[in-house]
Amino acid sequence: MIEMDCTCVQKRHSIPTETIEVSDRAIEKVADILKDYRRIFLVADENTYAVAGARAEELLKNAGRLSHTLVLPAGALPNAENVGKVLIEAGRDRAAYDINAWSLNPDYILAVGSGSLNDTCRMVSYRLGIPYGVVGTAPSMDGYASVVAPLLNGRKKIVYNCSIARHIIIDLSVNAKAPYPLLLAGVGDVIGKYVAILDWEISRDLNGEYYCENIANMVLRATAQCVEASKGLKERDLAAIRATSEGLLLSGEGIAFCGSSRPASGTEHMIGQTWEVMDVEEGKIPNLHGIEVGEGTFTAIELFRRLYRETDDAAVKPLIEKYLPAFDRLEEMQKTLKLPFTVTEKERFTQGILRGRTFRDRYTILQYLYDHGKLEEYADQVYDTVMRKYCFGTFKAQFPAWR
Ligand SMILES: [Zn+2]
Ligand SMILES: [Zn+2]
Repeated sequence: MIEMDCTCVQKRHSIPTETIEVSDRAIEKVADILKDYRRIFLVADENTYAVAGARAEELLKNAGRLSHTLVLPAGALPNAENVGKVLIEAGRDRAAYDINAWSLNPDYILAVGSGSLNDTCRMVSYRLGIPYGVVGTAPSMDGYASVVAPLLNGRKKIVYNCSIARHIIIDLSVNAKAPYPLLLAGVGDVIGKYVAILDWEISRDLNGEYYCENIANMVLRATAQCVEASKGLKERDLAAIRATSEGLLLSGEGIAFCGSSRPASGTEHMIGQTWEVMDVEEGKIPNLHGIEVGEGTFTAIELFRRLYRETDDAAVKPLIEKYLPAFDRLEEMQKTLKLPFTVTEKERFTQGILRGRTFRDRYTILQYLYDHGKLEEYADQVYDTVMRKYCFGTFKAQFPAWR
């Protein structure tokens, strides 16, 4: 249990996570960290099994704590089929001839992977009432400590309530070898926090929404840490990998402390996730979450900058002003990091903004612009600016072999 006393109305924040281990060779501690469990069900995919799963399996087997292992195909998506596979395999040790027999079902699920495997396993963990943990293999998103999981179900992407990881084990030398698109996705997922927290502050002042300054500051510090560290990612500098991993974990803790993703997800996620959903509806595999969110962030920044220039709303203008230096830093960062874009076609880009407003029930600048009769005009005009200032190429052009 991680706890933090607070000055907000919640007075105290807590999450059921017992251990967060971020270190070089952290994987060697897996059997020790999971010493309270005796029948651990390990789930990996072919890629993550090769880089970390096999070693974790060996250590757990030697310690007498392994139940069995499931290795899904490389790049397995968090979809209903894979949730089903994990669910089926989780119970395979029960005696087939007697459903009332003492069950050998696992007492713990260990996901070895990043976003997709984590989401798949914590769904199964939640449904079966078995605790789970994760050996993270890439700093690609902030969902290790999250409370919900977005899963692909048919041609829909649905956000389900899920378990929070009991243990999070990040082996830095494994993470340093993660594919470069996953490292970029981690940065993309985290830079949006400036936008998300600005949205949150606006809703606090306009709608009286609950707001926790301590959580907001914790997430903002994590974001600054990741932006700074992004310079060393290409060289796979271990300090940069550590700073990125810890920043993403802190952001995830902020979500879990808050009990909702409000501190970590605003306009940028609603736009990026709309683009993801459009892919799903068309039967395509959605792009990496953090890559979509990165593009959504630059889009949101330009919406905010334009509103700042044009508005004399005394409730909103000073709030945006507070974030302008952070927006400038992100623009600088993008000139060297060059996060790739996925949506470059105007119609689709604009749809992300217009449909994004109602992606979920959350007040953001999109709703503000809509209420002031400006959303369509802003969506139409922001496109050229975003492409000119932030787009240095598409994901497909930069990583043609990906998926
Ligand atoms: Zn608080
Ligand atoms: Zn995200």
